Amino acid sequence: MTPVSQRPTSRNRLVKTRIIATVGPACESIDVLRQLVASGVDIFRLNFAHGQYEWLEERVRLIRQVASELGCPVGILGDLSGPKIRLGEISGGDVQCTEGAAFRFIRGTESNDPTDLTCTYEPLIDDVRIGDRILLADGTVAMVVFEKSPDAAWVRCTVTQAGKVRSRQGVNLPGVALSTPSVTTKDRQDLAWALQQKLDFIGLSFVRQADDILMLHQLIDAHSPAVRPLVVAKIEKTEAIADLDNILHAADAVMVARGDLGVEAEISRVPILQKQIIRRCNEFRIPVITATQMLDSMQNNDLPTRAEVTDVANAVIDGTDAVMLSGETAIGQNPVQCVRMMDRIAAEAEPLVQPHDLQELKAEESRRARPITEAVTRGAIAAADYLDADLIVVATVTGRTALALSRHRGRVPILAITDRDEVARRMCLYWGVTPILSKLVRQSADALLQFVVQWGAQHDMLRSGSKVVVVGHTNWLGETHDLVMVHVLP
Ligand code: PEP
Repeated sequence: MTPVSQRPTSRNRLVKTRIIATVGPACESIDVLRQLVASGVDIFRLNFAHGQYEWLEERVRLIRQVASELGCPVGILGDLSGPKIRLGEISGGDVQCTEGAAFRFIRGTESNDPTDLTCTYEPLIDDVRIGDRILLADGTVAMVVFEKSPDAAWVRCTVTQAGKVRSRQGVNLPGVALSTPSVTTKDRQDLAWALQQKLDFIGLSFVRQADDILMLHQLIDAHSPAVRPLVVAKIEKTEAIADLDNILHAADAVMVARGDLGVEAEISRVPILQKQIIRRCNEFRIPVITATQMLDSMQNNDLPTRAEVTDVANAVIDGTDAVMLSGETAIGQNPVQCVRMMDRIAAEAEPLVQPHDLQELKAEESRRARPITEAVTRGAIAAADYLDADLIVVATVTGRTALALSRHRGRVPILAITDRDEVARRMCLYWGVTPILSKLVRQSADALLQFVVQWGAQHDMLRSGSKVVVVGHTNWLGETHDLVMVHVLP
């Protein structure tokens, strides 16, 4: 008997909005990972900013074990840190920065002067100009450069927004043209590891322009992986927003990385930028993930705030494909409750998601599927809608037809059947698509339909009178044809 996904029964619905959970100490055990998948996690994120390879490798093994036990595909995203800058060690661990006080950023890693700061990015001293802002600790502390030493050994700054900074906290240089490449030496090592582990998605942090993504593609190609991971461009710098269309042409998916975006851009602009990025991704029909602080207060509490619930719901209604949990699942006290809550909020919001206007979708020619796939999937969506169908079923070898269906944001859930593990896992990012692994994809439409009817009955999703729209291929007169078929359960 073909293994079938257990999850729709535990999640009690076919998925639409995808859930990504960051892995950390709070969910490192197989037991918690299992509960997270059963509660709705589609993709786990490994953040290369934290964790040694040995620890990460064990998480990859456990995630795959859980996916196989539960019979449902689970994707893994490796998140490259990019040129993330951090403070060096501060003697005593922290320092209070009072407004108007002067601090120096110096080269190297050590100084006896308590007003000297070091960081992981030595060219900071070369790259900043007088008047540039240096933001520390998630933007809670701000400084402005007012002097550069003639021998380029230090820059002196004055504190414009007071606060305490701790060793290794983040440093942001909004608007400063960094001289470092976007893919760092550490990223190259992490990428090699990620490809060796056959991760499904590779994210790149602090993307500045489309060339950064093209460079990542080249680096991936240089490894000649048997299966290419999908590339996710994290949008968190204003330069990236300026080059967004080109980035969307180059990337396979996008993440609205609101944490650093809220530091690099004015925090008050984050909601507007989020909406603009989601909208543009929808127009390009490229999957988009909304990330960071979505249920932040649940790290310590059983329930989220009303504002957080509203934030998740709004992202779903605005058209995000996926919502992401960071600290909530990595270090929080309630990782499983967070995923359940996310799923509940998404389920409430999804009926308000507007199907995409077919004419508007014409806009981005470059992202269109091949014309026949486009025609067939449009036909399937229209038929399913007109008939008020219960399910769209697609037999897909590469996942492309499933993606073409997903992009319409149709009302009817999509069951995508493939016989390739890696395709099933990448479909974990596609809105409205429940991936199922089965060899039947290469058999007749009849055999496929029989399987779906059995699956639907087992999961209490189909009953007598239910309508199923099937998208697939058939072989008539020795030729392969694309086909849309409507089946009404007797
Ligand atoms: C972010 O900045 O919002 C983000 C997702 O990146 P990270 O969690 O790697 O800081």
